[in-house]
Amino acid sequence: MILAAEDGAEIAQAENLAARWPSVRFSVGVHPHAAGKFASSPADAAETTAAVIASQPLTRGLGEIGLDYHYDFAPRDVQQEVFRQQIRLAKRRGLPIVIHTREAEEDTFRILIEENAHEVGGVFHCFTGDRAMAQRVLDLGFHLSLAGIVTFPRATELKEVAKMVPLERLLIETDSPFLAPVPHRGKRNEPANVVHVAETIASLRGVDATTIGEAARANFARLFQPGYD
Ligand SMILES: [Zn+2]
Repeated sequence: MILAAEDGAEIAQAENLAARWPSVRFSVGVHPHAAGKFASSPADAAETTAAVIASQPLTRGLGEIGLDYHYDFAPRDVQQEVFRQQIRLAKRRGLPIVIHTREAEEDTFRILIEENAHEVGGVFHCFTGDRAMAQRVLDLGFHLSLAGIVTFPRATELKEVAKMVPLERLLIETDSPFLAPVPHRGKRNEPANVVHVAETIASLRGVDATTIGEAARANFARLFQPGYD
């Protein structure tokens, strides 16, 4: 589960979720959409995140953090600084990062490289780039997570990405409540639908869905060290 560090109501729900589903783990961060709140002091974004990490022992990742130049909800220089500050926090805490990047490929890679983010590694969540970008992700040592978009008939380039990612770098997700996969398009998405993502990737690669599921589970365990298996 991914939590917004600046959203107290969401943070409060973490306790509830963990009590109901003992295998749940959390990633916490200031999303680029919310970076504007920290325009006058980007370091405060890392402090806010650090405070939530300290209060939630099941935190195993830092994110979503990154850059979103599609919506541009926060000024780009502020997004970049909030991103940097949180990468530094992740390195101090030894936590992998969960990256949100949209229409900001060059700046995202530049910052990851300048900040030596490979030292903690992590995942490009809800990856929608092309094969060239996927290769950059892999070259940097990061994982790549595919969501329901890969099930869309017109997502031909993303289907090629799904075939090229080494199994040991692949994660799957739903991005609920958004992006419901085929055959649930137009409905509210939910975590159970991740099975459709796995099935689609499996058929593209000519393997069975269990292979994809087991690989994703093992990769998740290695990356986020949930401690339940
Ligand atoms: Zn995102």
